[in-house]
Amino acid sequence: MKKHHAQSPGWARPPLHVGDLRVSFLNGGRLKLDGGAMFGIIPKPLWQRLAPADELNRIELTTTCLLVETAGRRIIVESGIGNKYEARDREIFALSETWLLDSLRAVQIDPESIDVVILTHLHFDHAGGGTFDPDGRGARPTFPRARYIVPRGEWDDSRAGYFVMTATYREENLAPLERAGLLELVDGEAEVAPGVSVRSLPGHTRHQQGVLIHHADRGLLHVADLIPTAAHLGLRYNMAYDLLPYENMRTKQRVLEECAQSGWTVVFGQDPHWSTWRISKGARGFEAVQVE
Ligand SMILES: [Zn+2]
Repeated sequence: MKKHHAQSPGWARPPLHVGDLRVSFLNGGRLKLDGGAMFGIIPKPLWQRLAPADELNRIELTTTCLLVETAGRRIIVESGIGNKYEARDREIFALSETWLLDSLRAVQIDPESIDVVILTHLHFDHAGGGTFDPDGRGARPTFPRARYIVPRGEWDDSRAGYFVMTATYREENLAPLERAGLLELVDGEAEVAPGVSVRSLPGHTRHQQGVLIHHADRGLLHVADLIPTAAHLGLRYNMAYDLLPYENMRTKQRVLEECAQSGWTVVFGQDPHWSTWRISKGARGFEAVQVE
C-alpha cells in the first residue's frame, strides 16, 4: 500500500486537479486517539488488524486539510488541530507541534490570502486551526479575511452545552470567529464557489457536513468524520464518539453507494495514508481502493 509520509509541515502529498480546480493536501497536524473509542462496538481483534494500537491502546491519525484554488480564490477545507494546547492535552492525544499555519507558511501561502474556510464540524481536531493565539493576548481568527462556513445546526449544538462532548467544543475555537463576524452559517446543501459545495452528513454529529469538489463527471468528496479512515469503511465501524451511530451508518451507506455509482473519489480526513480512494461494491460490502 502506497503511503505518503507527511511528518513535517507543508504539502502532505502531490496535488490533484478536478477540472480547473487545484486541490492540495496540507498537514493539519497529527494525533492519536484511543483505538477502542475510535471503533465503537467492534472488538479489538478485528480493528487492530486495520489500525495497530500503541502501548497505550492509541491509534495514529492525521488531520487532512485541503486548499482548493479556483479562479483566483482560495478555499481551505478543515482546519485541523491547531496549536492552542496545554502540555497535558499534548501528551494525552500525542499532538504534533505542526499545525495548519505551519504547513501554509512552509509553502509560502499567506493566511490573509484565504477567502473561505469550510469547517465540517466543530470538534477540536477539525476546528482548532481556525483560531490561534500568537502573542498570549487571546485567540483570534487564523484567517482574518475569510468567511468561515459552518453548519447552522452544528454551531447551535456546539454553543448549547448539552453535556455531550462539551470538552471538544472549545470556547477558544468558537467565540473569536463569532466576535470577528466571520461566521457564515449554512443549512444543508450550499454552493460555496463554482465546483465546491457542502452537503449534510449527519450521524457523527447531528449536522456535520462534507465537502464535494466537482467538475463534469469528476468528484472528490471529503467525508470528515463520517468515515475518518479507510479502516472505518464497514457500516458498523462507527466511532464511540458518534452521537447517532445508526444515522451515521445510514449516511455512510448512502454516501458510499453514491460514490460507487458516480465514480467520485473520497478523502478520509484522518487516514494516515494521505490518499484518495475509489469505492466499489463487492459481494462482501463496500471496498475502498487507494487511487493515488
Ligand atoms: Zn469529530
